[in-house]
Amino acid sequence: MPAPEAAVQYAKEHKNDFLEDLITLLRIPSVSTLPDHQGDMERAAAWISDRLKSMDFDNVRVMPTDRHPVVYGECLKAGKSAPTLLFYGHYDVQPADPLEEWKSDPFDPQIRGDDLFARGASDMKAQVVAHLSAAASMVHTSGLPINVKYMIEGEEEIGSPSLEKFIIANKDLLSCDICLNADCAILAPDTPSITYALRGLAYFEIRIQGPASDLHSGRFGGAIDNPALVLSELIAGMRDENGRITLPGFYDSVRDLSDDERAELSKLPTDDAWWQAQAGVKALHGERGYSAGERASARPTLDVNGLLSGFTGEGSKTVLPAKAMAKISMRLVSDQTPEQVHEGLIQYMKENAPPTITWEVEKLAGAPPAIVERDSVSIRAASKAFESVWGKRPLFTREGGTVPVVGMIQNLMGVDCLMMGFGLPDDNLHAPNEKQHLPNYYRGIETFIRFTHELAV
Ligand SMILES: [Zn+2]
Repeated sequence: MPAPEAAVQYAKEHKNDFLEDLITLLRIPSVSTLPDHQGDMERAAAWISDRLKSMDFDNVRVMPTDRHPVVYGECLKAGKSAPTLLFYGHYDVQPADPLEEWKSDPFDPQIRGDDLFARGASDMKAQVVAHLSAAASMVHTSGLPINVKYMIEGEEEIGSPSLEKFIIANKDLLSCDICLNADCAILAPDTPSITYALRGLAYFEIRIQGPASDLHSGRFGGAIDNPALVLSELIAGMRDENGRITLPGFYDSVRDLSDDERAELSKLPTDDAWWQAQAGVKALHGERGYSAGERASARPTLDVNGLLSGFTGEGSKTVLPAKAMAKISMRLVSDQTPEQVHEGLIQYMKENAPPTITWEVEKLAGAPPAIVERDSVSIRAASKAFESVWGKRPLFTREGGTVPVVGMIQNLMGVDCLMMGFGLPDDNLHAPNEKQHLPNYYRGIETFIRFTHELAV
């Protein structure tokens, strides 16, 4: 039987084993944030490293970090001329509470209908075990047609605090041509999709100081400036009448949407009416010239996340506040960087803040955006793999949110980080009754096999 058919056949014959594997891993409550689960974290890491050893992977290691270890393993038997794929995943899960809202024990996986219910099912043990199962199917038949490395961390659900250091310290070990991050989903069971771009994030706190302390507005009002008004004016000026952000240089490195890309995005089942209904608003709003879907994924934004000043209790108090504070964040698109946006904000404040107050800007968080071109080798391979398993072309989506690890890997390692996983939007991630749609789990295994072979071509 020609590759990859032999591996696909193997996967079909071992369907039940691969389900058992997933259930075994799901029984381990590897909750990274809770110190009580330290032993479970070690057991989950050991389970994955044993699985890699059972496939004759080399250099399999459970590598310590400041908190939870990273599991590493490699199979480089395809040789130097073949491409190398680095699989990124995580074996940790979110806490299960509130427990009373679960229909079955979160760590005693139960199948109901097409779904397997357990904490960590979709996020992301099913995606990890699907890839391990795909690799096993190839190893036990025609062999892996490319080199494969695994980097599976245990701290994703607590923000991957050790990963950057780990990648920098192990750059040679992890070197690859492409990274695959399976921590994601498709649009619907019968609607395969590829997320090819994620937005980044820049988050700031702006603090305005007027008088040394709160003053009586009857005595001082009119004679001095009001920090709450100053802050409001500054914020209002950050956006113009066309919904564009006015910070200096904000759009300088934003990639334009091509007509072709816009045509592709317009195929998504989420039109403006959907966005309006979903948000429950009277009318949509945003940058002129773009659809709501484009604005929420392919264009950068600026939002006020919080405002604080003066008297906000019940009743009235005639105070002239001494200070005002705003939390402001921007969602970024390629090739913006949090640093550029920070500089733009500082410049804006220098140019626009009146001499009546002092101000500070504190950087609270930053993560770069990420994009993999739709005509890249990896996206074309993924697209073909989806098409042969699902019988239809995948849709292409951009995610409005931020997955810091994707941008981190792209920046630190200089490789594309492809998002390819088989969860669903309604899998109850981080919530009670998390599930994985099992037909997608099996199709995912086959898709990973075909994807690996497409990369070898
Ligand atoms: Zn995850």
